[in-house]
Amino acid sequence: MPIIEIENVTKVYQLGKVEVNALRGVTLSVDHGEMMAIIGASGSGKSTLMNVIGCLDIPTSGRYILDDIDISQLSDNKLAELRNKKLGFIFQDYSLLPRASALSNVELPLIYSGRRGRRKLAMEALERVGLGARANHKPTELSGGEQQRVAIARALVNSPDLLLADEPTGNLDTHATEEIISIFHQLNHDGITIIMVTHEPDVAAETHRIVRLMDGQVISDEKVIRTN
Ligand code: ADP
Ligand code: MG
Repeated sequence: MPIIEIENVTKVYQLGKVEVNALRGVTLSVDHGEMMAIIGASGSGKSTLMNVIGCLDIPTSGRYILDDIDISQLSDNKLAELRNKKLGFIFQDYSLLPRASALSNVELPLIYSGRRGRRKLAMEALERVGLGARANHKPTELSGGEQQRVAIARALVNSPDLLLADEPTGNLDTHATEEIISIFHQLNHDGITIIMVTHEPDVAAETHRIVRLMDGQVISDEKVIRTN
């Protein structure tokens, strides 16, 4: 069952008089429960594709069906609601509020969605990433790996079906990277579909499928074969 069906999607950015073809006819189907990596050189369109998948950006042409919903038919409000309910985002720079505690950062999406029992849900999400004991720490009092785990907890707090991570380990050392990957494995095991952009072959090899972009097109799409 596909959660994502992308058909011949293009994205053209207008930079003054210059047109940038960031995506040039991408077709991609992702099933529920997959754990997939998107790789490719800088400028190949990885972030643009992630933004389209995450409904942060609208394709210039082509079709995008997310969980049986044609997103081109939705109003901005419906799109925001869909994003909040179904998707979790993780970025390279964590994007946490610096003055707010870990717990407050994780509560934020719940405020937008008007949920009750926010503190408890946020605490549960922090515990899921092993940070229950750090709930009252501010981002500056946490290591990079811990900050990224807070960001993962924030992405999880609305129980999304799909987690989108753009270079989630780009700023992290090997140890912290392994921790993040191990959390992703656990979440994927729990049924969450995961798509991540990475520059690191080791990280991509931890997923089950690698899609490679070049100049805004998919040039390979391969299952990861494990030898051990
Ligand atoms: P990647 O994430 O693989 O490095 P991007 O998706 O960020 O690549 O960018 C693909 C191309 O689109 C690049 O040429 C980039 O300069 C261009 N681009 C990305 N975002 C914008 C934007 N908002 N406005 C204009 N050009 C953009
Ligand atoms: Mg990018």
